[in-house]
Amino acid sequence: MRRKFVAGNWKMHGSMVENAALLNAVIAGMSQLNNVDCAVCVPYPYLAQAQNMLTGSNIMWGAQDVHQLEKGAYTGEVSAEMLKDFGCRYAIVGHSERRAIYGESNLIVAGKFAAAQNAKLVPILCVGETLDDREAGHTESVVAAQLDIVIEMCGVHALRNCVLAYEPVWAIGTGKTASPEQAQAVHAFIRNRVAGHDASVAERLIIQYGGSVKPSNAVELFSMPDIDGGLIGGAALVAEDFLAICRAGN
Ligand code: 13P
Repeated sequence: MRRKFVAGNWKMHGSMVENAALLNAVIAGMSQLNNVDCAVCVPYPYLAQAQNMLTGSNIMWGAQDVHQLEKGAYTGEVSAEMLKDFGCRYAIVGHSERRAIYGESNLIVAGKFAAAQNAKLVPILCVGETLDDREAGHTESVVAAQLDIVIEMCGVHALRNCVLAYEPVWAIGTGKTASPEQAQAVHAFIRNRVAGHDASVAERLIIQYGGSVKPSNAVELFSMPDIDGGLIGGAALVAEDFLAICRAGN
């Protein structure tokens, strides 16, 4: 049985004061839940705050991106080893906002995935189609291309130490959630594709769903056989909503 994993992606939100209140509430609520894994992916400047507050709790933390190279003249960038210095367990790679706004290609994302793993971070690899892709019937080919390049570059066994997040772009921040059946179909497609390389890796792989997950739809989404939790944007900024979603996975 795979354990459910709920992670918050705060995106570019928060302040020292707001984060302290949010994290204290999440720490208190999560202390009652033993059967779900939980993490928050915070903006870089708040990693030290997350480390200070979350050490000793059952909540892990991580970053929302990582650079693909170890070090060098890359102004503004952050390496995987730097994230390790702040006790991060996770780094999101390939979020659709990074792909769309910052032009990150499948190849760059695969490089980020490899860099995270080389530093013993667990990458949370985001994949997902746009509305145009879906309407053109290209959902599977788009998701397959995003996944295959990582398998080619890193090998299927690299998927033992990662999390996948299926995030249909049309469902992110729009209030339009994929139906549980729509999401399940893509999750099953992903798991089958991995199983084509290695069945035991596929069986253990955690595949989160992301895109307008809320307390009102989390139970139904998480009850699908191949949905192993969620990557939560907006609702992760409201402690009671985030905790309700964690409870749905508990
Ligand atoms: P929302 O939950 O705000 O739709 O965002 C999802 C997401 O992009 C998580 O990475």
